[in-house]
Amino acid sequence: MKKLVMIGNGMAGVRTIEEILKLSPEQFDITIFGQEPYPNYNRIKLSNILQGDTNFDEIIINPLDWYKENNIQLFTGETVVNIDVEAKRVISDQGREVEYDELIIATGSNSFILPIPGADKIGVTGFRDIQDCEMMIKSAERYKKAVVIGGGLLGLEAARGLLNLGMKVDVVHLMPHLMERQLDPIASSLLRAELEAQGMNFLMEKETVEILGDERVTGLRFKDGSEVEADLVVMAIGIKSNTAVVKSSGIYVNRGIVVNDFMETSIPNVYAVGECAEHREIVYGLVAPLYEQGKVLAERICGGEAKPYAGSVTGTQLKVAGVDLFSAGEIFEDGSTKSIMVYNEYDGIYKRVLTRNNLIVGIVLYGDTKDSTKLFRMLTKKEDISGVSIFQTECSGRASDDIASMPNDELVCGCNGVTKGAIVEAIQTQGLTTLDQVSYCTNAGRSCGRCKPMVSSILAHTLGDQFDSAAAQKTSICGCTTISREELVEEIKAKGLTGVKEVMNVLQWNNEEGCTKCRPAINYYLGMIHMDEYKDDRDSRLVNEKMHANIQKDGTYSVVPRMYGGVTTAADLKKIAEVAEKYNVPLVKLTGGQRIGLFGVKKEDLPAMWEELDMPSGYAYGKTLRTVKTCVGAQFCRYGTQDSMALGIELEKKFERLDTPHKVKMGVSACPRNCSEAGIKDIGFVGIDGGWEIYVAGNGGVDLRPGDLLCKVKTQEEVMEMTGAYLQYYRETANYLERTSKWVERVGLDHVKEVLADEETRKALNERMDQTLKKYIEPWNEAIQNEEIQDKYYAQHTIKGGE
Ligand SMILES: Cc1cc2nc3c(=O)[nH]c(=O)nc-3n(C[C@H](O)[C@H](O)[C@H](O)COP(=O)(O)OP(=O)(O)OC[C@H]3O[C@@H](n4cnc5c(N)ncnc54)[C@H](O)[C@@H]3O)c2cc1C
Ligand code: SF4
Repeated sequence: MKKLVMIGNGMAGVRTIEEILKLSPEQFDITIFGQEPYPNYNRIKLSNILQGDTNFDEIIINPLDWYKENNIQLFTGETVVNIDVEAKRVISDQGREVEYDELIIATGSNSFILPIPGADKIGVTGFRDIQDCEMMIKSAERYKKAVVIGGGLLGLEAARGLLNLGMKVDVVHLMPHLMERQLDPIASSLLRAELEAQGMNFLMEKETVEILGDERVTGLRFKDGSEVEADLVVMAIGIKSNTAVVKSSGIYVNRGIVVNDFMETSIPNVYAVGECAEHREIVYGLVAPLYEQGKVLAERICGGEAKPYAGSVTGTQLKVAGVDLFSAGEIFEDGSTKSIMVYNEYDGIYKRVLTRNNLIVGIVLYGDTKDSTKLFRMLTKKEDISGVSIFQTECSGRASDDIASMPNDELVCGCNGVTKGAIVEAIQTQGLTTLDQVSYCTNAGRSCGRCKPMVSSILAHTLGDQFDSAAAQKTSICGCTTISREELVEEIKAKGLTGVKEVMNVLQWNNEEGCTKCRPAINYYLGMIHMDEYKDDRDSRLVNEKMHANIQKDGTYSVVPRMYGGVTTAADLKKIAEVAEKYNVPLVKLTGGQRIGLFGVKKEDLPAMWEELDMPSGYAYGKTLRTVKTCVGAQFCRYGTQDSMALGIELEKKFERLDTPHKVKMGVSACPRNCSEAGIKDIGFVGIDGGWEIYVAGNGGVDLRPGDLLCKVKTQEEVMEMTGAYLQYYRETANYLERTSKWVERVGLDHVKEVLADEETRKALNERMDQTLKKYIEPWNEAIQNEEIQDKYYAQHTIKGGE
């Protein structure tokens, strides 16, 4: 097998790998390095995260299990710092050296940060990755005033997001018009008026020369001497190809890494793709051309007949609610161009097509973009416009007639290059009936999502009478089926289904093996419904649960034994120390959940270490109860009013190992000083005089959220009863992989309170909980006792995939 190494784990690179796997899944042993600590995610949707339309979990394109299933060794949070093209080897910042036969560089871009005094102050950021996004969201919680430098696509999307986060936003722009490279002055002024109506303030023709403040930014100074206040500054003035890694390698770099029409660099067997690559003097900054490049590169690297990449014309849209715009090609008239224009100032609709010699060379649409796909096709295919009516007249969505008259080669999903013909063919040959399925099978709608209404119209047109609009829109478990979560649970109950394969068979999954999204979900729902009778399908679980250990990013594992309520003993500490020493554990660390973690453990050492520890698994890897963090409480603390440790230990002992839709963390504090941070846990308990307050749906992770008060109770017994009922209701009604915070927001806190207020309901929920809890056995001990399990999961052979 040839060794293929890729530097960069982003959108263009991983799409190239997907294309390679489609063409030749067995040809390469693949290793990917990603500087960011995440699997590949949809960077385009960062704007939607900032605007509050989606969350981080939902923008993951390729989850960790995808890498594992495709035997890809992934090193996240690891930067390649050097390429030795002579020895054909890459070296990472952690000293790891990996040899390659073929090397793909897909390192993307960095935000361009103005080289002005103060640009390094706290509170100044670009808008490029999850970290930038988190920083903006956190700033909005504490500060009120943001300034975005740059009135282009990214700047305006960032500004809209910051408005949604409750900040006052000024947008500073150097030029007299917004998005001046995509819009002409009329469209630009319509856009500005709309955004001003939404609450944005514009400071036009201002050149920033200094960022003010001591450590943290307090404002900006402009060239004309004026100043503006700012607690947060977002620089969105452009991007710069990230070519740092090739610096001393001899690979030729201009603005980007220079590639030919097959994405080959100046050094044999080294390729570049995405925003780091410069092709025919152009560096592209939108995914559509990058995905085209990825396709050509995949064909080339797999040895097929690759069609050369000849460059792309790109179309731009803005992802801001209330703004409908599209732009492509040339913007400005010259002596050789003629315009076709419609301007309805009253309705805020403006359309202009620039033509030269009967061909469309530029498009600007504002307020009504339904002609964009047709016009874009005419532009890219150089179709003669003589006698063709350029604009549709009615303002509704694309009618069925229009779909019928739409040529098969018309591009529907610009980002992924999917045509109407490809969608129709997939619907017809694969029996697709929902939008999700079409997206899964064709990639249409997988990136910015703007084409989804059009894909839906094509689905309706292709299915004719068989089209069921409600069913088509519904969110199915995954692309293997049209069935939603509710339907799946109903069907399992009604048909008495008891196995993962059986579910997929009987309910006619279109992929008989299922996928990494549906298999763990089915396994969970079966276990939840059949309570104590269900035989868990270990191989359908997510990789960490299957191994009962977290895979670390270097392919080793971690061992985190249970420490109930964060309380330990000298004897347990001795055992941990001895095991750590004997097995040369490189890192022994206190975890955030008050336990001791042993990191960097070899897979084959796991069973022996577990045996010598002789402690239960802490399930630090599971969709289950992780930890119950406790404060010292009334036993030792002078403020404590309740015994927090005793309650924490009782809770952890009762609910450990319980399968839940997502991980669950608890905290118990014995007084409102709240030293265990119970206010940001899935369930938090705070001792008060004469009882406990129970908080729910808190989250201390990426989507920071304080818990809501569910109720106050008097005794520890009542705490246990309410917690059992709450957890069981969550288990029975949440979607698999839905955190309690999201679940409560979806179903409503008042609804949950109402359900749990009824004593009979609480009793019934607790009975089902108790029945379920009977089935669990300690998994580390099971592995120690069972040679079959040891052979299958822990014998020495290479494990791929990482975290
Ligand atoms: C907020 C935002 C909104 C956007 N909206 C749109 C849109 O609406 N439509 C559109 O088409 N495009 C949009 N884009 C652009 C689109 O996201 C990019 O074109 C695309 O992500 C580029 O893919 P890439 O693989 O080249 O780079 P990236 O996705 O940036 O991936 C590169 C990866 O390589 C990693 N890396 C870099 N150096 C190293 C190294 N030495 N070792 C290991 N890893 C390394 C980086 O950390 C990064 O994770 C948007 C971008 C942003 C930031
Ligand atoms: S939460 Fe209150 S009782 Fe618990 S340790 Fe802190 S101060 Fe003491």
